[in-house]
Amino acid sequence: MSRIALFFWISLACFIFFACGTEDPPPEITLHYHDNLSLEYDEVVEAYQALAAHYPQAKLMEMGSTDVGKPLHLFMISGDEDFDPSSNQAKEKSIVLINNGIHAGEPAGIDASVKFAKTLLDEDAEIHQILDNAVIAIIPIYNIGGLLHLSRYHRMNQDGPIYKGARRNARNLDLNRDFAKQDSQNARSFAKIFHFLNPDVFIDTHTTNGVQHKEVMTLIPTLHNRLHGDLGDFFKQEMTPALYDRMNEETPWGAIPYLHRPGFGDIRDGIAAFNDHPYYSSGYAALFNTLGFITETQYAKPYPERVKATFDFIAFTAEFTADHSVTIRELRQTAAKATAQERSFILDWQLDTCTQDSILLHGYATKEVTTPLTGRTTTTYLRDEPRQQHIPFFDTYQPALQRKAPGAYIIPQAWKEVIDRLVINGVEVTHLEHDTILDVETTYIRDYEASPQSNQGRQLITIHDKEIVSGPRQFYAGDALVHTNQLTNNYIVQMLEPLAPASFLRWGFFNAALEDGEGWWIYAFEDYAWERLQEDEALREAFDQRMKDADFAGNPRTQLEFILNYITRDQAETGWQLYPVARLIK
Ligand SMILES: [Zn+2]
Repeated sequence: MSRIALFFWISLACFIFFACGTEDPPPEITLHYHDNLSLEYDEVVEAYQALAAHYPQAKLMEMGSTDVGKPLHLFMISGDEDFDPSSNQAKEKSIVLINNGIHAGEPAGIDASVKFAKTLLDEDAEIHQILDNAVIAIIPIYNIGGLLHLSRYHRMNQDGPIYKGARRNARNLDLNRDFAKQDSQNARSFAKIFHFLNPDVFIDTHTTNGVQHKEVMTLIPTLHNRLHGDLGDFFKQEMTPALYDRMNEETPWGAIPYLHRPGFGDIRDGIAAFNDHPYYSSGYAALFNTLGFITETQYAKPYPERVKATFDFIAFTAEFTADHSVTIRELRQTAAKATAQERSFILDWQLDTCTQDSILLHGYATKEVTTPLTGRTTTTYLRDEPRQQHIPFFDTYQPALQRKAPGAYIIPQAWKEVIDRLVINGVEVTHLEHDTILDVETTYIRDYEASPQSNQGRQLITIHDKEIVSGPRQFYAGDALVHTNQLTNNYIVQMLEPLAPASFLRWGFFNAALEDGEGWWIYAFEDYAWERLQEDEALREAFDQRMKDADFAGNPRTQLEFILNYITRDQAETGWQLYPVARLIK
């Protein structure tokens, strides 16, 4: 061997030795769930920072703020180091978004997701191949304010971890009621993440309360009816059963539907699929045809089991999504197109109590006991005496409220917080260029009730009577115009139709509009009322009819109110009882 060749081989050997010898080992990330402790806020952020620093396939981003002032993080894992969601979707890769710690006292998903990210990034791990067809996105902690507020006294019914975060966030909002109305900064930052990713599949991780049974995992799949056509069928008939099967056949944890009992007494009377309105995470995701699951691990199971069950569900869901990425992408594209063209929307669903399936529940024998403290009679579970039984499962919902969409909605610019939320959610909003009178449908709220207690910081509105009147109305330059030919049609209609269960009106955004701020004066009105009564035969007939009621006949103010309401009823000029958002039909 020549000296040059010898030099070459020695140099190469040194290079290989040097290169291998200096490669950093993967970061050591220590989880404490075996010791009944969850990761704290700083530990979670440091874990994801360490993974992002080591693996080029991982990236940690800040995506807006939260009510406590800390940034909302998004951790992405992409096999080919491409972190652009639309570019990945063009390559027919699916995107799975996992949200954790929304109720910070239910942290199984926080720990499970760190473990999942670390495992997934390891090239030797079996699940690493998920990255061939899917991109994984993780919100490490959603309710950061809640997790920073650790206490032994949060969720005291739950078996670990020892210290738990708070249910509500820094603004004392329950974030799993805030997805549609988005009063928290957390929710508005979540919307930014959600519309940046346009995830195909979404998982929101929780822990439940209530009945005890052998299964560690209970699941709320989104109400499949909320997903468009074939996508909903695929979700109900293929995806959801496949995930239950893997949880039940391949893990010791088991999985059953969330034991939701609307109006049912005993668990043996049955459970129902959960109607996840759009203010819940999965219901919100379904508005955009995203396939959503809420995981609810059972509160009475040891914390390590809950973490492992959540880990397995995340892994199975990611594997299923990767294996079906082409199908899911095609079904979602078809659904998106159909949603943009849809004219009639189902705003709410009602449980069909005549149609039932059944599930096998692996429960325990129970015993009635008297508590030593208060002498209360209660049920205790005998966990060494398993009792399995089939219980009715009501899994069918029928449309309860349907509405045809107008060509566009017009929102007077005074209602800025409503317009802002539409924009945050990807809705295209244009503005009128000139002051103009338009023929529109206007809803008058004739009778309503505001909740006596505030709920999520708002007085909720229940409408008892409404009337829709067509006719000309004045609008002004700058008022918002929202066309209903958009991919975001479900969000638009669900939020702007006043009777929809999660609408802005229902959440109290328009309470000021429902107040009668004009006032009227009985002494000045009576002469005018008398004249109108003489002129208007129909009014006189209606009035005479009411006068047969002794209470009415004995109350001058009620009589004058009746005439006032009658003559102003069809006139937009007073603006009384008028829901500000108009429907433009043409
Ligand atoms: Zn929860």
